[in-house]
Amino acid sequence: MQYLAARDEGGVLEALADGETSVLAGGQSLIIDLRKKEKCPPRVVDINRVAAFDTLTESDGFLHVGPLIRHRVFESATVAGALGELLRVVVRHIGHPPIRARGTMLGSLAYAHPAAEWPVVAVTLGAELVLAGLRGRRTVPAANFFTGPYSTVRRPDELLVEVRLPVLPPGTGSGYAEDRRTTIYPQAAAMAAVTVTDGVITAAAVGLVNAGPCPVRSRAAESVLVGGPFSDAAISMAAEAAAEVDVTTGNRRAIKVQARRALSQARERL
Ligand SMILES: Cc1cc2nc3c(=O)[nH]c(=O)nc-3n(C[C@H](O)[C@H](O)[C@H](O)COP(=O)(O)OP(=O)(O)OC[C@H]3O[C@@H](n4cnc5c(N)ncnc54)[C@H](O)[C@@H]3O)c2cc1C
Repeated sequence: MQYLAARDEGGVLEALADGETSVLAGGQSLIIDLRKKEKCPPRVVDINRVAAFDTLTESDGFLHVGPLIRHRVFESATVAGALGELLRVVVRHIGHPPIRARGTMLGSLAYAHPAAEWPVVAVTLGAELVLAGLRGRRTVPAANFFTGPYSTVRRPDELLVEVRLPVLPPGTGSGYAEDRRTTIYPQAAAMAAVTVTDGVITAAAVGLVNAGPCPVRSRAAESVLVGGPFSDAAISMAAEAAAEVDVTTGNRRAIKVQARRALSQARERL
């Protein structure tokens, strides 16, 4: 296997143009796959020396995250406001400190583990993903990006160059709950971001992990919540509605429990 170290985006895209080269970002999933021989690409292009990829900015109502932003960046108060708080809540669930120090948010999105944390955050918040290839750039809504476990619409010659996460309004409380008693990744998980104005829920985003082949947003749970108070009854009804999304067999109870926990956390953090 050939190792290439790119210095700029053009160098990465040229390396990827053959459609057989793998991107090396944090290496926290790729290296394991290479060791297990689950992946045997003829070439790997290391993007860690591309300084322009180490960018995190906020503009036009979005947080723009570049390919070298590590998970651990979101542990501190680097991102302000309600979105920053959600990211701080979520990041604690990812692996352990050495994984968070190396692994990247975009690597996690590209890898598309069905129970990973960042994919469900991206889908639930309505994020946009920007893909670049030698033929140009395209923007894909997160809801259309994931097509199944470890599967996305990214073409082999494309690099994920940015994720745009919508900034959350003030008055938003967020929660993330998961059940991972027996595995590295959770068996069921839920995230919630709920905005309350004058005692009434004005916006809600509820996302679920392992309710199907890729992360999903529960519009049914959201519509139960919006327009009413953030009461115990609303949380229970929304959790019931969330479990209905589950297309797998036997995970509904776990989904319901995690949805209720995520919503309760969101209310506590308002
Ligand atoms: C013990 C252990 C526990 C873990 N626990 C968790 C967990 O609880 N939750 C969780 O979410 N993750 C977990 N991970 C995975 C970790 O979050 C990884 O960091 C992440 O999945 C991949 O990010 P990376 O930057 O390390 O990518 P890499 O390993 O470098 O790459 C992963 C894949 O994505 C591709 N890729 C990477 N970046 C890009 C890009 N910008 N554009 C296109 N393709 C790209 C690579 O080619 C490769 O196929 C764990 C890992 C380990 C080893």
